[in-house]
Amino acid sequence: MRESDGSLTSLRQYNRRQVLKALRSRGTSSRAEIAKLTGLSTTTISSLVADLLSETVIVELPDRANSAGGSGRPARMLAFNPAAGGAVGVHMAHDHVRVGLTDLAGEVIARETIGLDVDHEPAQTLDFVAHTTLELIARASLDRSAIVGLGVAVSAPVSVSTRAIDADRILPDWRGTDIATELGTRTGIRVEVGNDANLGAIAEHRLGVARHSDDFVYVMLSDGVGAGLVLGGRLYQGAIGGAGELGHVTVVSDGFICRCGNRGCLETVAGAPAIVAAMGQVRGAGTTLPAVIESAARGDHGARRVLADAGRAVGRALLPVCTVLDPSLVVIGGECAASAALLDAAREELARGMTPLRSSAIPVLGGALGDEAEMLGALTLARQRMTLR
Ligand SMILES: [Zn+2]
Repeated sequence: MRESDGSLTSLRQYNRRQVLKALRSRGTSSRAEIAKLTGLSTTTISSLVADLLSETVIVELPDRANSAGGSGRPARMLAFNPAAGGAVGVHMAHDHVRVGLTDLAGEVIARETIGLDVDHEPAQTLDFVAHTTLELIARASLDRSAIVGLGVAVSAPVSVSTRAIDADRILPDWRGTDIATELGTRTGIRVEVGNDANLGAIAEHRLGVARHSDDFVYVMLSDGVGAGLVLGGRLYQGAIGGAGELGHVTVVSDGFICRCGNRGCLETVAGAPAIVAAMGQVRGAGTTLPAVIESAARGDHGARRVLADAGRAVGRALLPVCTVLDPSLVVIGGECAASAALLDAAREELARGMTPLRSSAIPVLGGALGDEAEMLGALTLARQRMTLR
């Protein structure tokens, strides 16, 4: 138990979590089995089970012919009821918002994505997120009181101490906006906010390609570029929450001006808008990222070159990171990771530049969760205190 769980309330919350954990791991259990599994007294179990039954988070199964071999009343079997509630995860990217609703078991049961100028329309974005959240909850016939949390992934550093976004230079229109309070007021749901690349890393660690790695670097390549670091099995956020801001590492000394005010940041080469703009020179303004990726896959030289240049820049930016941290894996996620040309180039550049002390190259893999990783990570954030309510 954590040190902070000292009070009677938190002790009860801790015990409640143990009961739910036992039930979820076993599928169905009797009260006596739960007592055996958790080491808690039958009185405590009875009281916790009564609460959970009244909230329908668990259900009592209909009597089965399970009294064989024993005398007296058969043990009533209990089961976790994932349909009793849910959690909401939101990814506020630069130009779109993705909202997902899960049941209590973490299964996504509804999702919605819409294009929106997130960077420049804070009020409209918050209204949309709140409206969509409440609509998805209603469509699933759930009450908002049954939603355990709302997790939000934002494309900016999130302060470790205040949980506020810290992005005066890269998201000036959001300056002073307290996302957790704004969304909490609009929805009546407890809100947690995290950095999107960090949450993408958490999702790939729990559900994706990094399931078996406790030391890896996740790079999110979408409209924005960032990284999440998982070290020793835990997310590393740095002293103030700015760890992994890879998108603003200089990779071209005389490159384009970045939205952060510096010149030649990785984002100006490997972000989706940079890739699309580079191809737009020859393809026209209507070019999209999926079209560029598809052209490259079909062998178009220009598209391959643009994506390979982006991949090489990612590999170069990763070199000092990987040299210092010695990860077992690099995961590249986000929309741009759908390009094999980009992944190959990043892999080659990293392998070429790494210290010869390393006998084999660090594997560079595309994320398994695609562009939903950040939303799924936000769901993890929403569910982290699930059994504490
Ligand atoms: Zn920058």
